[in-house]
Amino acid sequence: MDSSSLPAQLSDTFGRRFEYLRLSITDVCNFKCQYCLPDGYECNTPTDFLSLEEISTTVNAFALMGTKKVRITGGEPALRKDLLDIIKLVASVEKIQQVAITTNGYNLDRQVEKWADAGLTNLNVSIDSLDATQFKLITGDGRLQNILTGIEKAIDLGLNVKVNAVLLKSFTQKQLNQFLYWIKDKSISMRFIELMQTGDNLSFF
Ligand code: SF4
Repeated sequence: MDSSSLPAQLSDTFGRRFEYLRLSITDVCNFKCQYCLPDGYECNTPTDFLSLEEISTTVNAFALMGTKKVRITGGEPALRKDLLDIIKLVASVEKIQQVAITTNGYNLDRQVEKWADAGLTNLNVSIDSLDATQFKLITGDGRLQNILTGIEKAIDLGLNVKVNAVLLKSFTQKQLNQFLYWIKDKSISMRFIELMQTGDNLSFF
């Protein structure tokens, strides 16, 4: 790669420096969150996601421009069969200090140890409800307990863990208390996120 044409530090015209890259490696997802993909993922065109080689070129270029943290995201990034190779690749790039992933956690309990061994440092998991029935209603997936087990493992492995919950119309004081009780003795950052309004999800506001 010819690095001579790259700026030393990625910044905008306001002088803001960008040290953090969000890297979407797929747009496929296996959940059917009511506010996102209520009918599940559908794609009628051939998929054309970044290859390992393209990811390497991209992350190395950003690292040369001051990027220190890469967040691997999707869709659901854990659906990529080469995710371990992607984590290893990103973690091996000089100057990248943190490798994060945002996941729905569907296979977290089985995979998180391998991800940590490959170089993952930060984990973001989306959990919109701690009630198994409600979780299934929102996401179409019934594996809440596996996700919670995976999060416990991630904490034990020393990963920096964040949990995101999207604030939906059905969100109640009772749910808030459940979340607060759950994180009380855990090393977790909890974030409640405002739902991005689209024409399709007005009923959740
Ligand atoms: S897990 Fe994320 S990407 Fe998948 S349907 Fe839910 S909100 Fe959308």
